[in-house]
Amino acid sequence: KQIQIAIDGPAGAGKSTIAKIVAEKLNFTYIDTGAMYRAVTHKAMQLGIQLDDSEALEKMLHATKIELEPSINGQLVYVDGVNVSEVIRSNEVTANVSQVAAHANIREVLVAMQQQLAADGAVVMDGRDIATHVLTNAELKVFMSASVEERARRRYLDNERRGIQSSIERLQEEIALRDKLDSEREASPLIQAADAVYLDTTNLTIDEAAEAILKLAYD
Ligand code: C5P
Repeated sequence: KQIQIAIDGPAGAGKSTIAKIVAEKLNFTYIDTGAMYRAVTHKAMQLGIQLDDSEALEKMLHATKIELEPSINGQLVYVDGVNVSEVIRSNEVTANVSQVAAHANIREVLVAMQQQLAADGAVVMDGRDIATHVLTNAELKVFMSASVEERARRRYLDNERRGIQSSIERLQEEIALRDKLDSEREASPLIQAADAVYLDTTNLTIDEAAEAILKLAYD
């Protein structure tokens, strides 16, 4: 049966970690849409394509195979058959992804892919526009946020685990800038859907946040 849970929110709110747990508990497929924007950004950077050139990006995208594969460690991402799951988390890709995601023509292609992925099955999908544009009829819509300080702290710890050096101050600036770009862009800006439940995770542990969503899902 087709069941959809949409989780949106700003960078570092804990969406992917929590969405993954919720999906596991419900035995749903977890789909991380940010990884798709990151994959496109990574390939464009490798090819030296100008990130403000929406036509060149679209041409590249039409000649690109993006595959998502669920795994125990979360979702794996393949671009043209190569596993890019780790490299798409680099600071360089993170710094550029919002510019790529602002192009309406790129969003159109990725949104269609996302809808296709959710077409036959039960999914937990996370992103920025899932409730507002991708899965507008989702059974449950959650808008997850947390203070920018807390989100920077989480990213810092996350980076540390991945062996990436960072500074909390820099991360806070980077997150605030990405929030601004994502919420002020013209094409599908980051915004809470009218029928979404707001969940502030600032003072919640990962398990508490997952519990809160599971409770909503069972209601
Ligand atoms: O979730 P994550 O931080 O990996 O997303 C990376 C970027 O991809 C976001 O900052 C945003 O610019 C873009 N994005 C988007 N729409 C989505 C998911 C991600 O615009 N559904």
